[in-house]
Amino acid sequence: NLSTADIQRVDAAHHLHPFTDYKALNAEKSRVIARGDGIWLWDTDGNRFLDGMAGLWCTQIGHGRREIADAVHRQMTELEYYNTFFKTTHPAAAKLSEVLAELTPEGLNHVFFTNSGSEANDTVFRMVRYYWQLLGKPSKQVIIGRNYGYHGSTVAASALGGMAGMHAQAGMVPGVHHITPPYWFDYGGDMSPEEFGVWAARELERAIDELGEDNVAAFIAEPIQGAGGVLIPPETYWPEIRRICSERDILLVVDEVICGFGRTGNWFGSDTYDLKPDLMPIAKGLSSGYLPIGGVMVSDRVAEVVIEKGGEFYHGYTYSGHPAACAAALENLRIMRDEKVVEHCANEAAPYLQQKWAEFGEHPLVGEARMKGLVGALELVPNKPNRAERFDNVGQVGTMARDFSFGNGLIMRGVRDALIISPPLVMTREEIDQMAKLIGKTLDDTYAELKK
Ligand code: PLP
Repeated sequence: NLSTADIQRVDAAHHLHPFTDYKALNAEKSRVIARGDGIWLWDTDGNRFLDGMAGLWCTQIGHGRREIADAVHRQMTELEYYNTFFKTTHPAAAKLSEVLAELTPEGLNHVFFTNSGSEANDTVFRMVRYYWQLLGKPSKQVIIGRNYGYHGSTVAASALGGMAGMHAQAGMVPGVHHITPPYWFDYGGDMSPEEFGVWAARELERAIDELGEDNVAAFIAEPIQGAGGVLIPPETYWPEIRRICSERDILLVVDEVICGFGRTGNWFGSDTYDLKPDLMPIAKGLSSGYLPIGGVMVSDRVAEVVIEKGGEFYHGYTYSGHPAACAAALENLRIMRDEKVVEHCANEAAPYLQQKWAEFGEHPLVGEARMKGLVGALELVPNKPNRAERFDNVGQVGTMARDFSFGNGLIMRGVRDALIISPPLVMTREEIDQMAKLIGKTLDDTYAELKK
């Protein structure tokens, strides 16, 4: 029964938080989240927040669903843990692999379980190179990612991502190359979004030519770049990437850690953009975040090589396919299917929030309002008539707006000078109305502060 102040004191003394400015942590007190229910969270002082980020882009079904706790409890009392190494399995892992083969796009019929999206992408890194070795093409080593991509924080995953700060702090892994993302708002030049989409996709072709097709193993990309700022590609982008991948001898890795499990209005971003991934990392919405679990969906193309030509794949995690995490994922997917959560997102919640989004696009502080499914961004600009103009100190206004949002009882994220949203997929119209009011107030508060 520690008081809020006690928790904050102990936390500041001993707890190093992920992606947190440690100097600020000493100066400011942590928020202490104590309880969740539906789209709401409460801190230890009883303040209520609308969870506009679904945790970290993961709580598709909202917080506090008892059925998942019960399913995990049943699993824990039967078999709390056993591993899946050396051809051992258990019912929950076997069942979940079957459900995933059913739900994911055609041709993805195998899964390698991990505990997180980062581990899924480290698995990708090792599996693509192994695949080409097995095919007698060991020179195919380079993986092409994108600037502002985010694929996780482990060593290989952070190298695949395109976050300059991460590379600067820990160095780069050899054999990774990055290209420009389809971020039309940032580009600011004369090409239309459609022209720019084709141009950005052809960056991949130019990179393959430069590096040599014999040296390139794979291209990795999120359908919509999430942590990089919800970069929604122009409609021309993915068809051109599809063409390039099918003409050139490289694997397509589609990172569905954020876009998977309904976020874009279909089960997968690959369904939304008609992609046929060779490998597909998943995590987050797989269990709605109730327990840590991720995986890599492996296509028949890759599985056939790895199974037929391969021997032992020297790779795996003690908790790959953890029984309790599999039970949580299975129950989450049962809820999502039985309650038609993806259909609700596509037909109800997303169109309704998108209407509001278009209205926010008219606000004097907003240079661009973009949204697909239930993931969106509001780009904040100093001078609306000239959208190309930016705030001097990038990130300062985004952080200010995010802090106003918290103060107003809404959790949004600031990425550079954009406000990001990715709420639970189960939001009702009334809840969206409540959220929209808080967003409007946040924009007004930020605008007024800047006018002072
Ligand atoms: N891939 C994408 C697209 C992500 O957004 C993230 C996390 O935000 C990851 C991978 C890493 O997942 P995790 O934090 O579970 O390791």
